[in-house]
Amino acid sequence: MTVAKNQDEREGSERTSYFDSPPLDISVAFPQATPASLFPPCASDYYQFDDLLTPEEQAVRMRVRQCMEKEIAPFVAEYWEKAKFPFHIIPNIAKLRIAGGTIKGYGCPGLSITGSAVAIAEVARVDASCSTFILVHSSLAMLTIALCGSEAQKQKYLPSLAELKTIACWGLTEPDYGSDASALKTTATKVEGGWILEGQKRWIGNSTFADVLVIFARNTSTNQINGYIVNKNAPGLTATKIENKIGLRIVQNGDIVMKKVFVPDEDRLPGVNSFQDTNKVLAVSRVMVAWQPIGISMGVYDMCHRYLKERKQFGAPLAAFQINQQKLVQMLGNIQAMILVGWRICKLYEAGKMTPGHASLAKSWITVKARETASIGRELLGGNGILADFLVAKAFCDIEPIYTYEGTYDINSLVTGREVTGLASFKPAASQRSRL
Ligand SMILES: Cc1cc2nc3c(=O)[nH]c(=O)nc-3n(C[C@H](O)[C@H](O)[C@H](O)COP(=O)(O)OP(=O)(O)OC[C@H]3O[C@@H](n4cnc5c(N)ncnc54)[C@H](O)[C@@H]3O)c2cc1C
Repeated sequence: MTVAKNQDEREGSERTSYFDSPPLDISVAFPQATPASLFPPCASDYYQFDDLLTPEEQAVRMRVRQCMEKEIAPFVAEYWEKAKFPFHIIPNIAKLRIAGGTIKGYGCPGLSITGSAVAIAEVARVDASCSTFILVHSSLAMLTIALCGSEAQKQKYLPSLAELKTIACWGLTEPDYGSDASALKTTATKVEGGWILEGQKRWIGNSTFADVLVIFARNTSTNQINGYIVNKNAPGLTATKIENKIGLRIVQNGDIVMKKVFVPDEDRLPGVNSFQDTNKVLAVSRVMVAWQPIGISMGVYDMCHRYLKERKQFGAPLAAFQINQQKLVQMLGNIQAMILVGWRICKLYEAGKMTPGHASLAKSWITVKARETASIGRELLGGNGILADFLVAKAFCDIEPIYTYEGTYDINSLVTGREVTGLASFKPAASQRSRL
């Protein structure tokens, strides 16, 4: 059997990016339909969500949408495939002025929570990895410094983080403590002039290249969780990339090892004195995470909407078949409901009425609906539904880690369950715990 070689092999060179290649003749490379490198127009905002937004929120939504569609969409599939981070897009994202989200002052944009959420959704609509990169940097690391840091720490770190001149990560999870993160074992021991950190972290997004690492550790004197800002050059600190992920492949997740890492006193976060203090940050970040699957689902719908009209079978566009229309409408209905839940959670937050159970229900329910939406989209694209080039396969995979991080579906359900019943069900009975 002879196997036709692709153009790169014929020319004996490895193509490194779309920009290095001769212009792609889309009609030859993809005869059936237009790939996601030419991003489809937004058709998923069926109930005209823009009407619920302020002019500022509408403006940030459009600003992010245009940048993502035109400047980022042309090459994300390739970076996703290679599991590499496209460092050259950092200036494009920086100019959007969304890093720092709701933080006011210190060079941060001071967006409303709704504005920040729709910005995250617009990034996720084109690429979920890029939205996770910003979310970890902004809604976890920067927000922890803003809410729990000293005035000097805010002035020192936030301005360059807001401009993405420096990048941050946020390390809570450990190899043996994921859902059970409040039991974490990394230690912080007081020494003259600072603290010695000892332990490991796992899954930490951006950690392989972050300049600033926000790390949570157990104070060996008080046995409480404290927070620290660790410099990437601190002796004893290493971060190794986790390979072979099936989703969010652009995000560089790392295993962090800390061996006698010294952190000066001025880099201990004074506002983190127990695990409960992380909840102030997680409340906002869970709202942001809830908006990622909304954006992902919108992108999937937009892609399917165009694809079904372009590709023909049995002499008619795929969009003409009743079953395909039903699937498309099911996706559209999901998205309208997801948007309204996401919008309401922002309004509850703004009114000071949002509870942990509210945020957890939004994150868990929206993620389930996004999983269903991406799965239908994958079916609708047939064989092209398993190619990253057509967005939907990439989105289908990217939903999976989002279903799991910032509290798995189960854990978020139990947070809401505890709130509505008054009964916590996280820990099995003592007799069950000692069985193995
Ligand atoms: C791509 C990715 C990025 C991440 N980024 C970060 C990051 O930047 N910073 C960070 O700190 N962490 C990060 N995480 C970690 C993430 O928050 C954890 O993976 C998550 O909390 C789940 O922990 P675990 O993977 O250890 O699963 P486990 O806790 O081992 O859970 C396994 C299964 O058991 C279930 N389970 C566990 N306990 C219970 C219970 N009490 N009741 C019912 N079911 C239960 C879970 O729901 C899950 O289905 C990231 C993870 C991923 C995959």
